[in-house]
Amino acid sequence: MVKETKYYDFLGVSPDATEQQLKSAYKKGALKHHPDKNKNNPEAEERFKEISHAYETLSDSQKRAIYDQYGEEGLEGGGGGGGAGMNAEDLFSQFFGGGGGGFGGMFGGGMRDQGPKKARTIHHVHKVNLEDIYRGKVSKLALQKSVICSGCDGRGGKEGAVKECTGCHGTGMKTMMRQMGPMIQRFQTVCPDCNGEGENIKDKDRCKKCSGKKTVVERKVLHVHVDKGVRDGHKIEFRGEGDQMPGALPGDVVFEIEQKPHDRFQRKNDDLFYQAEIDLLTALAGGAIHIEHLDERWLTVNIAPGEVITPGSIKTITGQGMPSFRHHDHGNLYIKFDVKFPKGEELKNLELLEKVLPPRLQQNQPPADAMVDDFELETIDTNENSQARAHGGAVDEDDDDVPAGAERVQCASQ
Ligand SMILES: [Zn+2]
Ligand SMILES: [Zn+2]
Repeated sequence: MVKETKYYDFLGVSPDATEQQLKSAYKKGALKHHPDKNKNNPEAEERFKEISHAYETLSDSQKRAIYDQYGEEGLEGGGGGGGAGMNAEDLFSQFFGGGGGGFGGMFGGGMRDQGPKKARTIHHVHKVNLEDIYRGKVSKLALQKSVICSGCDGRGGKEGAVKECTGCHGTGMKTMMRQMGPMIQRFQTVCPDCNGEGENIKDKDRCKKCSGKKTVVERKVLHVHVDKGVRDGHKIEFRGEGDQMPGALPGDVVFEIEQKPHDRFQRKNDDLFYQAEIDLLTALAGGAIHIEHLDERWLTVNIAPGEVITPGSIKTITGQGMPSFRHHDHGNLYIKFDVKFPKGEELKNLELLEKVLPPRLQQNQPPADAMVDDFELETIDTNENSQARAHGGAVDEDDDDVPAGAERVQCASQ
């Protein structure tokens, strides 16, 4: 005989109901009284909580035994509302899926944020050189992924060999009881009977191929299309080609394009930048430079005599940049010129320049009565020794600085 029947009454079953009867009574009651279906009806919400709490208690064989023997008093915090333990919504979603999405998913009300359960996405950075981006290519990339075991169709064992864990009713979590003096304390823990798996397989029934893990690791080659002109950071997605796991949608694979640095060209969007060094003669009197492009072509770029390329100037060649992604019209090639000036000893017949170049600029002239001294230019010696000497001299002028500086260095090294 049971001490009281309140929880059984909430569920509308008799105290000798089987687990299965409890389960279906809960399902029926929870669906009927769920708050999402009974807006502005506080009574339904109360009923929903009562039903949930009753089921949570009675579905646990230990708790049911305590309840049958001692009634609600035997269960700590056992008020009708189900304060402690699992909350009513959690229990509900565990039953009906939707991972907290509530009612919407079940009744077509539109799942809010979460879609169905899905295996993780595999991310991979695919490094590509600029030549391949210019021409486009297909990369064959192998990946290791989990697939549903074909030996057991993802069950982990023979048909029927996998049993829902009786300790936790498949939830993987278990409410444990502990006697603390006159009180019974309860707490949630990972179910020790199934290590949180929610199910058990006898060792002899375990699938040989996957040892009961339900999935096996497989090597899969994917053909990644590196389209012409693809941008750095572009993502190529293979939906459903990622990991598989039982009871979930297969995951995706995402490749992210990373453009490797190039030794001749810099890329900015669809344009290419190239640095050319020319001599002063070419800059003034014309000549040609040759640029190795990204597709085995060489570009000969003619500089017309008298065009005058000043140091640091940038010129462009239209249409010799990168192909634009998916449209394949081309950006431009920009050439920045370094002009190498001759060394003094390389110059001959300087007076001939006066026939070639415009006359000297008119410089400021001193007034006729000014005192005038003559100077020659000296070259600044930029090598290290002379710099150290100059620096040392400056320090010597202020002797106090030297020991203080030395001290600070010492402190730092201690
Ligand atoms: Zn298997
Ligand atoms: Zn378990």
